[in-house]
Amino acid sequence: MADGNSNWTIDDAEELYGVRRWGAGYFSIGDSGNIQIAPNHRLPDVTIDMKDVLDEIRAEGIQLPAVIRFHDILRSQVEILNETFARTIEEASYTGKYSGVFPIKVNQMREVVEEIIDAGEPYNYGLEAGSKPELMAVLAYNENPDALTVLNGYKDEDYLTLALLGRQLRRRMIIVIEKFSELEMLIPLAKKLGVQPLIGLRSKMMVRSSGKWAGSSGDRAKFGLSITEILNIIELLKKEDMLDCAKLLHFHIGSQMSDIRKVKEAVSEGARLYAKLIKEGVPLEYLDIGGGLGIDYDGTSSTTDSSRNYSTDEYVADVVYGVKQICDLEQVPHPNLVSESGRAITAHHSCVVTNIVGEIKNTGAQFDISASDGEHILVSNMRELVNSADMHPQERYNDAASYKQSAYEAFKLGILSLNEMAKLDTMYWRILVEIHSSLDRESFVFQELEELEDMLASQYLCNFSIFQSAADTWAIGQVLPIVPVSRLNEKPEVRCSIVDITCDSDGKLSKYIEGTEISDNIPMHTLHKNEDYYVGMFLTGAYQDVMGDMHNLFGRLTEVHIYCHDDEPGDFYIEEVVPGTSAEKVLETMQYNTDFMAKTVKKCIDREVRKGHIAPREGVRWTDYYEKCLAGSTYLKA
Ligand SMILES: *Cc1c(COP(=O)(O)O)cnc(C)c1O
Repeated sequence: MADGNSNWTIDDAEELYGVRRWGAGYFSIGDSGNIQIAPNHRLPDVTIDMKDVLDEIRAEGIQLPAVIRFHDILRSQVEILNETFARTIEEASYTGKYSGVFPIKVNQMREVVEEIIDAGEPYNYGLEAGSKPELMAVLAYNENPDALTVLNGYKDEDYLTLALLGRQLRRRMIIVIEKFSELEMLIPLAKKLGVQPLIGLRSKMMVRSSGKWAGSSGDRAKFGLSITEILNIIELLKKEDMLDCAKLLHFHIGSQMSDIRKVKEAVSEGARLYAKLIKEGVPLEYLDIGGGLGIDYDGTSSTTDSSRNYSTDEYVADVVYGVKQICDLEQVPHPNLVSESGRAITAHHSCVVTNIVGEIKNTGAQFDISASDGEHILVSNMRELVNSADMHPQERYNDAASYKQSAYEAFKLGILSLNEMAKLDTMYWRILVEIHSSLDRESFVFQELEELEDMLASQYLCNFSIFQSAADTWAIGQVLPIVPVSRLNEKPEVRCSIVDITCDSDGKLSKYIEGTEISDNIPMHTLHKNEDYYVGMFLTGAYQDVMGDMHNLFGRLTEVHIYCHDDEPGDFYIEEVVPGTSAEKVLETMQYNTDFMAKTVKKCIDREVRKGHIAPREGVRWTDYYEKCLAGSTYLKA
């Protein structure tokens, strides 16, 4: 890494933040030092400068934080997945087709689902639903009679009835049976309505997945049928003369599969089961391998929970060739392949952009440390330590820490004055900074170095809520790339961690990508007065976009929808702006009546006006101001 700013290059920034490593061809750092996006995989030379996007957003008076959606990335991901399957199927002389579905739980935003349906049209790409409301959405949005609709999740009579309505509308709607009792409910219903259902069977897999979602497979999995149950179901279908309804075999061993070996294992198990069922006379046509196609969030191409050790090409090849091999051995026809990739389709397309609103620094405050008459011995001791620059760093650190601890005890007993405490504190941090800067980061000679680095790191206060915008970083320790949007041609000199504006001490990011490592903090640039500093949190398009909650009543973010276009200045245009949730709306979801609130506050203001504490004109201004804030954003105004 270069040490002077003059030597700092874009390559150093790339090395540090790993933008290309996790960027999947969509994100890089431009020569301008700004993040750059190439959203259309067919037009890699059409690039959008993130700073231009921000400037335009600000020019339109849009408040940060905002979610920025690149619709072309969404389209590209749909095309890449479908075309990779088509190409591999052809290369392998595989005789089935690929008939993928997008599981809308990963991002149910209407605009996202519409874009995916539109981009997937040429491939008959369908949708998957896992609940009644999702089923209602897919009924209305997947009109293509040649695309599948796969229905997972636990079902009641209404769920099944809606699915049969789908059949009446001539949709390829497949009801995946999770439990024996669902079939017992379905059969009389289908007979009563005179509709022939298409049935899928979800198998509980024996292969154990790894990572955060390992519980989706194995004997104790929440979903799916054991082999015994599958055979019982087949018996029942035969008895009811409905065996020809059984069209699909489904499995899903967990999301974000980081190790390709697990994928291969699952495919072998699933394909073998498929082949055996065909031989039992079950007329299956589809093998559905579920989701799990991973995202390399941390850019390490490894088996860490936030990465994957394979490419999409490799994944698809392992599926197609894996199923083909087993079917050929078993001498059964190749099934049509279905996958339910959600994360892989949506993760890249959106990011959260926000501004840093302040810095919290342990070392910032300074107090005059000169000696005073009769000062406490702890203060003089600490001063001596300040002047002992040649002491062994470890020893000096230990002494400073122990004086600090004693000072705290002494303060509690009333022995040290406020003045003395402020002096001690100033000196303590000064010593730590000195020790830290004297050490060579690479050699790690000093055991507590990392601890020291953490203590000295600044906290950058970031205008967003982790709980709304990055739920998984808090819930499951997911790593998401966080990178300054511009100034990447400048050396980032401040080690910091990112904290949000909620009043929750959990409201912070604790894992950062630094080179090929995960760190507790990350270098960012020095903040300049009167100049905005923007950071982007990337790869938030899967789950994060839709799982957020309103902790502290911070609402949904404003959304900006971007399309790329050769003929537009900057190669992009803003197609739509969806305003974030206002304070009013957020309060109403908690059953507040905001009219009542406004009236009450007005009544109180009026009372003070009558008493002469507030001038009448001023009273009107206060009333209007309160109402304006109700209609405004829940985030900090920047
Ligand atoms: C969640 C889920 C998916 C999506 O998985 P990804 O890893 O996001 O691709 C697919 N199928 C089922 C049944 C699911 O529950």
